[in-house]
Amino acid sequence: MSERRTKVLIIGGGFGGLFCARRLGRADVDVTLLDRAAGHLFQPLLYQCATGTLSIGHISRSLREELSRHPNVRTLLGEAVGHDADAHTVTVMRPDETTFVLDYDVLVLAAGMQQSYFGKEHFAEWAPGMKTLDDALCIRQRLFTAFEIAETLPPGPERDGWLTFAVAGGGPTGVEIAGQIREVATRTLANEFHSIDPEDARVLLFDGGDRVLKSFAPGLTEKATRTLESLGVELRMGVHVTDVGRDGVTVTPKSGGPAEQYGTRTVLWTAGVEAVPFARHVAQTLDAETDRAGRISVAPDLSVPGHPQVFVIGDLVGGDFPGVAENAMQGGLHVASCIRRDLDGKPRRNYRYRDLGSAAYISRGNALLQVGPIRLSGRIGWLGWGFIHIAFLTGVRNRISTVMTWMAAIGRGDRYHRAFMLGDRGVPEQPYTWSKDDQP
Ligand SMILES: Cc1cc2nc3c(=O)[nH]c(=O)nc-3n(C[C@H](O)[C@H](O)[C@H](O)COP(=O)(O)OP(=O)(O)OC[C@H]3O[C@@H](n4cnc5c(N)ncnc54)[C@H](O)[C@@H]3O)c2cc1C
Repeated sequence: MSERRTKVLIIGGGFGGLFCARRLGRADVDVTLLDRAAGHLFQPLLYQCATGTLSIGHISRSLREELSRHPNVRTLLGEAVGHDADAHTVTVMRPDETTFVLDYDVLVLAAGMQQSYFGKEHFAEWAPGMKTLDDALCIRQRLFTAFEIAETLPPGPERDGWLTFAVAGGGPTGVEIAGQIREVATRTLANEFHSIDPEDARVLLFDGGDRVLKSFAPGLTEKATRTLESLGVELRMGVHVTDVGRDGVTVTPKSGGPAEQYGTRTVLWTAGVEAVPFARHVAQTLDAETDRAGRISVAPDLSVPGHPQVFVIGDLVGGDFPGVAENAMQGGLHVASCIRRDLDGKPRRNYRYRDLGSAAYISRGNALLQVGPIRLSGRIGWLGWGFIHIAFLTGVRNRISTVMTWMAAIGRGDRYHRAFMLGDRGVPEQPYTWSKDDQP
């Protein structure tokens, strides 16, 4: 008589969850991959979707399609909302807000992080973050609508407010989106308006540190700073954004001194991240240690101490691991290998993260690439950046069409995916478009 197969439940189909599920394909286990979104999202190119270079189809791929060739892996759409550590079950909310329960022998928590407003959640109404497809579409709508509204206004402070864009956070995402907005203004929209000159658009980038892109070597950061400034991005370092409202932002110097106000109708938030609510809930049910952002402390094999059947991977892992795709992918592969070794009765290995470097896009034909002692910038950095991003995009079709779209966009500065919906896109984190109240 055959024994029941081990049930592996993976929460999250980002880089960590997807790589874990793929590696478990054809293993002697039944895998369920649950995600609240139907597709795997390539977050590193979200800003290109937000600014109209790429479509949502370029940067996301259906998880069901992606995993269809693994008969032992099923994908489910739903949001994990409850965890019973004793019963080994997870309660899931369907898109229509009804619920069901999944049981597991092994739980892999790969639910990632969400934007953090450091306790000032009301900022979110005026300052969308950049973590989901909804965020990208919300930013696209606000960006292009701002120019449209400015076109209809007479010169003056109101029009200036619509032509001023503030970005909070000088990490790679903040730098990338700030540079892209200036490129939209100076190249894409340059000759399309009659009343305004889009080149007048101001882009302000605020950060609490003394330089942007702190995770890169100072020499590279200096080059990036010069490029951003020549593009027209105004850098305001050493300040915290302390208020965000309908008409502007308030920033306070870290070193003290009076707060400053900037009139703007478009604020984008890339300043911080925190664990998604379900991860915090799991940590509580397991009595697991977490850091301030909610990342969970793990044992050397990436399991939760005292709970060898629960693993954590990717951005949610506490400790000295960077919040980058490579750490999530390597973690996913490692946990799959632990599960396989458990089946074979072999001891688990410890997780070792191999740093394969990092890259950041600065402007057209200009990116930073840092791999160990190798430091590249300018055009050669940009080629390296492009190669890496294409290599890790999910799906061959997505890779080919992204390369073709880039080639078309490079020469003319056109952005073919500027379309946006007017609907209720003002609320970025609106995961589903219907609820049980709407049903007959
Ligand atoms: C704008 C941006 C740019 C970036 N650029 C780079 C870059 O250039 N290079 C780099 O290496 N890294 C980059 N990163 C970081 C990289 O994307 C992350 O490190 C990586 O995505 C983490 O993978 P993960 O699997 O831990 O989580 P994620 O990829 O965030 O996946 C988590 C998944 O869990 C799902 N989920 C969340 N909660 C639930 C729930 N309750 N129930 C069900 N599903 C749930 C989400 O829908 C999501 O699909 C960037 C991130 C962002 C946001």
